[in-house]
Amino acid sequence: KKKLVEVENLRKYFPVKSGLMKKNYVQAVEDASFYIYKGETLGLVGESGCGKTTLGRSVIRLHEPTSGKIVYDGTPIYDSKEGIAVPMFDYRRRMQLIFQDPSASLDPRMTVGEIIGEALDIHKIATNKGERQERIRYLLDEVGLNTEHANRFPHEFSGGQQQRIGIARAMAVEPEFIVCDEPISALDVSIQSQVVNMMEDLQQEKGLTYLFIAHDLSVVRHISDRIGVMYLGFIVELAESYELCKKPVHPYTKSLISAVPLPDPELSKSRTRITLEGDIPSPINPPSGCRFHTRCPYAKERCKEEVPALRECSPGHYVACHLYDQ
Ligand code: SF4
Repeated sequence: KKKLVEVENLRKYFPVKSGLMKKNYVQAVEDASFYIYKGETLGLVGESGCGKTTLGRSVIRLHEPTSGKIVYDGTPIYDSKEGIAVPMFDYRRRMQLIFQDPSASLDPRMTVGEIIGEALDIHKIATNKGERQERIRYLLDEVGLNTEHANRFPHEFSGGQQQRIGIARAMAVEPEFIVCDEPISALDVSIQSQVVNMMEDLQQEKGLTYLFIAHDLSVVRHISDRIGVMYLGFIVELAESYELCKKPVHPYTKSLISAVPLPDPELSKSRTRITLEGDIPSPINPPSGCRFHTRCPYAKERCKEEVPALRECSPGHYVACHLYDQ
């Protein structure tokens, strides 16, 4: 299998002002290393504030990383050690983002045709007016919308239809990699699966690669080939979806899985119930060592001091926890 995206030791800090002139940083993403195969869906889950959105945006450099390395289709597009930060315009066409809140991401003053047309214009995809019109109709049809509705405004559509418009806009530039940032969390549960099915169809048809971000493991496990779990800026576990749900090893993943109703009795049998106490700590002043130690039922002295590295504990299954150091 070919790797389309390779990320090494990616870090993203945001400066924040706190108190008198004191500068602090939100340590949003710390030392993230992973890869995404061409044509697969890598799910990324974690509580809100765990850094998954920041990580997704940093991978496609909508947020410029603080340090680390990103290789896209074999070419380093960012490498802080080598001083590489390639201009992204050409890559923008190859990698797109689908936003969480479709109503906020669509300009209310533009018609749907103008919204999709703008994406075509930026990358000079349609050479004349007729071709542009044809392309807009084709894209609306592809996402299951009425091709006659290009002259309507976003507010004339339902939430699910608005997200379809957002997806059509992303698809307009014929991307190969799409970061899907909680694309269905703002939608009614009744239409979530329709949108997910449509995204899966598009993936099949066009060989797309997805990084699919969600806070809800039950959503991600259906669409993802592999899943990464994030806690307070760190990827703490990464494995094939079924493996992760059936044999989670990190205490945090176990707690997430305890919270999800699993229809498969095989999966329910094998899980350990862990209920977490307290809230996720602040990423401005995160706990030392393993950031999960303040909530982990298995925490030892060592966990407060040493950051556990993400290691392969069985083929293709990675975990960052001192319980699995050997
Ligand atoms: Fe818990 Fe320690 Fe493992 Fe962190 S490293 S998850 S605190 S046992």
